[in-house]
Amino acid sequence: MIKRYFRFFFAAAIAAAFLSVTGCSDNAETKYSDEKFLMDTFISIEVYGADKEVLEKAVTEAFAEMMRLNNLTDRYPKKGSDAYLNSDVCRINESAGKAPVKVSEDVYKMMEISLDYYNKSHGAFDIAVGPLVDLWGFADDPPHKVPNDEEIKNALKFVNADWIQLDPDNKTVFLTHPGMILDLGAVAKGYAAELAAKKLKEYGIEHALVNAGGNIVVIGYRPNNEKWRIGVEDPRDRESIVGVLSLADEAAVTSGDYQRNFTVDNVVYHHILSPFDGKPARKTISVTVVTKDSGLADILSTTLFVMGPEEGMKLVEKLDGVEAVFVGSDMKIYISSGLKEKFKLKDNDKYQLAS
Ligand code: ADP
Ligand code: MG
Repeated sequence: MIKRYFRFFFAAAIAAAFLSVTGCSDNAETKYSDEKFLMDTFISIEVYGADKEVLEKAVTEAFAEMMRLNNLTDRYPKKGSDAYLNSDVCRINESAGKAPVKVSEDVYKMMEISLDYYNKSHGAFDIAVGPLVDLWGFADDPPHKVPNDEEIKNALKFVNADWIQLDPDNKTVFLTHPGMILDLGAVAKGYAAELAAKKLKEYGIEHALVNAGGNIVVIGYRPNNEKWRIGVEDPRDRESIVGVLSLADEAAVTSGDYQRNFTVDNVVYHHILSPFDGKPARKTISVTVVTKDSGLADILSTTLFVMGPEEGMKLVEKLDGVEAVFVGSDMKIYISSGLKEKFKLKDNDKYQLAS
């Protein structure tokens, strides 16, 4: 049962292009960049500095760090393979209802923060969502299927992060009920991008951009001391953008209904699921979160997508240093108060600015 997102390979490639860095008149510093397909998406890293060798080494190490996180969180390696045995997530799932599992420091941290936002979102963000993701077949290469209500009801019985037990002293994770499936798909990429950026900084890099399929982290300013300009994709016209973010030393992560989906009878079903009714969440078309930490930004992009603009914006305004732009299903654009300076909306006649 090797399940992969091959079907979405090209979609992911386009999602990665959600970033557009404009005006590259960057000066004397050497630029080095590389791209790899990892964590089911294209990841590009662009760094600037004086010493080409250091830049290359830093980028290689940053990719290695992302690969390490990928291996720890991968849910789909073949059962019994080395990759399976080395994946904390596979080992946790294998032991559901049986025993606590000792995990790496990084997976433990991801779990802790995920459970915090499970509580803060009153269950909209739930990393026990695995049974639902599998039921909808979002990791299958075809077929995808639209499950019936009975199947959804049955899967939902096991989607309950209250049944995840963390032991901070022994760094163990326990899914207390058999049938539960942990899925870190909403947090791992952002967390990995954050650690990749940390690795670049360890090499003394002061200007860099990591783009993990639309999960962006920027280090410092661009070499010409301007902010990085990040285009926020128009979710209904991927050739276009709804606006531009100007960022320095922060992360921007987008969740959208267009990133992974399939269509049956003219209805589009996407991969961000509501743990309340077990179906694709319908209040949001896309949401982009800006904050210092990319792991948190990734968690919040999924959380806010499920909550929708009205309720989601209330959470954003309560959180320090967190900003967001929503494109709501009502075709309105919602911009959080702290983003007014950093986000420039593009003129358009498709979306209205929410008041
Ligand atoms: P992407 O993977 O496209 O970057 P997200 O960061 O929003 O998008 O993560 C979506 C993934 O998160 C899904 O593929 C699934 O694995 C998982 N997921 C779906 N719904 C939820 C949810 N309500 N809470 C937590 N994780 C979810
Ligand atoms: Mg996410």
